[in-house]
Amino acid sequence: MNIHEYQAKAVLKEYGAPVAEGVAIFSADEAEAAAKKLPGPLWVVKSQIHAGGRGKGKFKELPADAKGGVRLAFSLDEVTSHAKDMLGNTLVTAQTGDAGKVVNRLYIEDGADIERELYLSILVDRTVGRPAFVVSTEGGMDIEAVAHDTPEKIHNVAVDPDTGVTEADAAALCDALELTGVAREDGMKLFPILYTAFVEKDMALLEVNPLIVMKDGRLRVLDAKVSFDGNALFRHDDIMALRDETEEDAKEIEASKYDLAYVALDGDIGCMVNGAGLAMATMDIIKLYGAEPANFLDVGGGATKEKVTAAFKIITSDPNVKGILVNIFGGIMRCDIIAEGVLAAVTEVGLQVPLVVRLEGTNVELGKKIISDSGMNVIAADDLDDAAQKIVKAVKGGA
Ligand code: GDP
Ligand code: MG
Repeated sequence: MNIHEYQAKAVLKEYGAPVAEGVAIFSADEAEAAAKKLPGPLWVVKSQIHAGGRGKGKFKELPADAKGGVRLAFSLDEVTSHAKDMLGNTLVTAQTGDAGKVVNRLYIEDGADIERELYLSILVDRTVGRPAFVVSTEGGMDIEAVAHDTPEKIHNVAVDPDTGVTEADAAALCDALELTGVAREDGMKLFPILYTAFVEKDMALLEVNPLIVMKDGRLRVLDAKVSFDGNALFRHDDIMALRDETEEDAKEIEASKYDLAYVALDGDIGCMVNGAGLAMATMDIIKLYGAEPANFLDVGGGATKEKVTAAFKIITSDPNVKGILVNIFGGIMRCDIIAEGVLAAVTEVGLQVPLVVRLEGTNVELGKKIISDSGMNVIAADDLDDAAQKIVKAVKGGA
């Protein structure tokens, strides 16, 4: 689960990390009062969406040369005019995809005088089985580009969970970030703080880009992107309360109610598959034949008719779906249950697009009979290869 920047900063502040003062607002009317609570004379107006790259982002509704989703303001009037520009508009960044995200919240922050922008993140490094810091002196920019073009500028420091961040770890991080003087003293305190927050809150990723050295030499967390391990959320009611469902895909929220493993994608072939491995293979083979999957969907081993019906409805609610491929290997799952679920869903929501069904395994004959007796307009397939070719042909070739 992801949270907004201002929420992440509040969490880090609880642990003692240096963040600027700020106020979150939901309407432009609140902008001036919010800014007045801060010292000035420099404010930053920051779009709150669950995506990075906001500063370089573009608003769909504004002229192409308009400023992005993170803007400096030098007066109260400017704070308000930026707020009016951003709220309710759609911000497209390198991380949002073409659709962009509507800005419903802003964070008005006390501006900092920046000397240097650094990069810092903590994640679980699976190769060493430990939480690890990734840091670079090249902050404030696209870290993937830094990693690609100048990999020697990225430093990793893995932390032993038994000891936490040691003095030596913190010193190594200070060296990598070329911190001296008061910035180094701040760093020695900050790195253990961030690590503790990461571990105690069951974060999956904590990214501070940039961490800044200010003109006065102090460190500050200028941006914060945090995501949490969904499997641990049950023990963090405070974090759960920060969930913003408007940032999430409505189909994914619906799927989670039925315990379906569903991820929305950009393609046009909806997939209903049982087993994550088979779902991956199905997506691969759709791509092999020149089309793109509209989703990843694993209905699971023990899916009921209700679950299959819900899954089918979620797939058909996606306007991009031009065809559906049902690919079920009945092991624990029986093919007749799948067939009944598909039938129930089609009866309820109708079938506007071609449907290819490939069933194999337990009760396959009964499953096929249920479908053929139903009179539904279904294209039957014998194996995965055949099924993929048929659905791609149906969608692309109008067969
Ligand atoms: P992102 O574009 O979504 O990553 O948003 P950030 O919070 O990282 O802000 C983007 C950029 O805006 C930063 O890299 C800074 O260069 C600039 N910026 C943000 N806050 C301040 C501030 O307080 N003072 C100054 N001078 N620049 C800021
Ligand atoms: Mg940033």
